[in-house]
Amino acid sequence: MLYINYWPKGGKKLHKVEPKVFLIGETRIQEDELGLYLDHIGVSEWTSDAPSDIEKIVEVMGRLCYKSFKPGLNPNVVKIREHNDEYLANVINIKHGSVIEHGMLNFILADVSRVFTHELVRHRVGVAISQESLRFVRLTNLGFWMPSVFKNHPRSEEIMRFVIEKVEFMERWQVELAEMLDIANEKDFEVKKKLTSAMRRIAPIGLATTIGWSVNVRTLRHVIEMRTHPGAEEEIRLVFGKIAEKVKMRYPNLFSDYELKIVDDLPYYETKNSKV
Ligand SMILES: Cc1cc2nc3c(=O)[nH]c(=O)nc-3n(C[C@H](O)[C@H](O)[C@H](O)COP(=O)(O)OP(=O)(O)OC[C@H]3O[C@@H](n4cnc5c(N)ncnc54)[C@H](O)[C@@H]3O)c2cc1C
Repeated sequence: MLYINYWPKGGKKLHKVEPKVFLIGETRIQEDELGLYLDHIGVSEWTSDAPSDIEKIVEVMGRLCYKSFKPGLNPNVVKIREHNDEYLANVINIKHGSVIEHGMLNFILADVSRVFTHELVRHRVGVAISQESLRFVRLTNLGFWMPSVFKNHPRSEEIMRFVIEKVEFMERWQVELAEMLDIANEKDFEVKKKLTSAMRRIAPIGLATTIGWSVNVRTLRHVIEMRTHPGAEEEIRLVFGKIAEKVKMRYPNLFSDYELKIVDDLPYYETKNSKV
């Protein structure tokens, strides 16, 4: 057994991680160009009390459908909802969901497992995805998130020790295999890539990785509801609970109908406006 006593005493230990959510980008308004458009249709005085650019963009895209920037601009429209919160609440309530697709958010989800990323990519509509490549990035340090069923089990001490030991073994396998393959001295990058790609096959799917996930607001609402649902897996519930908390605070008028419940110590965001 090559790996026994591989790490020096008191040396490398399992790198335990917690999933992290970074909201790194969002749709912004070009105010000068919006001003030119408002001049063009004769409502240069129009303003919005939207708390964010995304909520303002959704409002603008919605209002242009009926020219409802002010009463009478379209002679068929004699009354309008003046405030952003009531305007967006109505868009959501009547399921005019295509309007909220105009807002895009860009997330980096770090220290999430391949279990998580595989579940995430099942949501195909309205997203863009960039995933850390384990063909290129060599596994030298396996980050691992510990599910609560291990931590809270009556035999948790024994089970945690077992799990940690096995993941540490797998990390050592990566290092040993790299040495056996002499990958560090390989000059040809194509060969290096093939070796790195082959080596990942003996890594656990619980290993921590990073995924870039851009999503429009319509899709995000749907995914928050599905993936914070008590029937979903713990890690994805944890991540989407964090995402929901962030977006509900930052874009209150797009998520005001989401009600927070705590189920099994995790947030569940429920809405009566399902799948807008
Ligand atoms: C608790 C839970 C357990 C799950 N278990 C499993 C499992 O055991 N095995 C498994 O394979 N998957 C499983 N999944 C994944 C699930 O089946 C879906 O693939 C995933 O949730 C994506 O959601 P979605 O179908 O709404 O698609 P999204 O890509 O999020 O699309 C959003 C919506 O757009 C519409 N849409 C998307 N694509 C099409 C299309 N091609 N044609 C028509 N309309 C479309 C649908 O209305 C869809 O709901 C599970 C999901 C959850 C939440």
